[in-house]
Amino acid sequence: MNVTIEKVSDYDVEKLKDFFLNSLTKSRKFKNQKKVLLKPNLLQASPPDKAITTHPLFIKGVVLALLELDSSIEILIGDSPGANFINYNRVLERTGMLDIINEFNISPVKIEEYPPKIYNGLLLSSIVEHVDCIINLAKLKTHSLTGLTLCVKNLFGLIPGNYKVKYHKDYPVNKELGVNIAKIYEFLKNKTISFIDGILAHEGEGPSRGRANKLGIVGFSDDAEVLDMAITKLLGLPPEFCKTNIYFIDKVDNIEDCLPQNLKINGIKLPISTKIDFLPNWLKKFVADSIKVKPEIMKSDCIKCYLCYKSCPVEAISLDNDKFPVVNKNDCIECYCCYEVCESDAIRLKRSLLHRLYVR
Ligand code: SF4
Ligand code: SF4
Repeated sequence: MNVTIEKVSDYDVEKLKDFFLNSLTKSRKFKNQKKVLLKPNLLQASPPDKAITTHPLFIKGVVLALLELDSSIEILIGDSPGANFINYNRVLERTGMLDIINEFNISPVKIEEYPPKIYNGLLLSSIVEHVDCIINLAKLKTHSLTGLTLCVKNLFGLIPGNYKVKYHKDYPVNKELGVNIAKIYEFLKNKTISFIDGILAHEGEGPSRGRANKLGIVGFSDDAEVLDMAITKLLGLPPEFCKTNIYFIDKVDNIEDCLPQNLKINGIKLPISTKIDFLPNWLKKFVADSIKVKPEIMKSDCIKCYLCYKSCPVEAISLDNDKFPVVNKNDCIECYCCYEVCESDAIRLKRSLLHRLYVR
């Protein structure tokens, strides 16, 4: 299995270029493609030091490597940032992507401008058939719903705008969502090569409400699922903690062989909502219905942008008389889409009494 994980302590562009050059040269899938899509994680309009989005210097490293291999290659870059897709230009600017786009004259693409199509029963932007290769540039982050968001999960951004919300509605259980995202990757696997930016990772209440952690690693593989399982193992977590791994657990063996010798990394703080995974099964069964973590909107910080309202898959958010959003806790399926998209830190997660009692 072709997996590289290396210690890289900072965003030194020359070192990153060498890492990408070595990886692309040994890739069994990257062979003189003429048109490639760079698919970073551009979840929201936040600056690179928050580690919510793939770092622009990581992107610069891959662009330099691609141009060195073939100066005539056509490079596109794009993602669909959840409910934020309406403010896409702001996302490109705040994440530092616009600087890279301007410096190298790359074409930014809006995933929503390529009409969605059904492929093997999966709804995706038709951008996927307009490129020869997808270079998947994921950010290493914790995730309140799926445990971790790594390379396989990063391809969820190829579902246009609000269609992502439908996935959350159709697959409200985190394992089901993980399996269906894994199927998207499986469909795109032949034309996808994957990298992960874990130099500045995102820990705690990920994918957007946590904090940066200087984890200092980067990874590459032709097989995103293998890289994800190797990273999960390296973090000291069981494979099923990352819900997009579950589909592949029986298909990937000997993951230890993919880990570099003597590579030690610090641990990563996990989202509070995922800690229920570590309770004994008998206890989970007994108290599952009472161990809840629900979002709560803090009016004092809310700027009434309504991104949360638009991103709720089950319409569990309504507006009160003063036009502030309010969560109806009985309807909420704990997908945390609202929490993920709020850029004003106006949503907090409130734990039920039993959650506070049992989950540490
Ligand atoms: S809670 Fe956040 S996302 Fe929702 S309207 Fe207020 S500021 Fe916007
Ligand atoms: S209120 Fe938030 S967490 Fe609950 S279902 Fe809606 S988007 Fe998901």
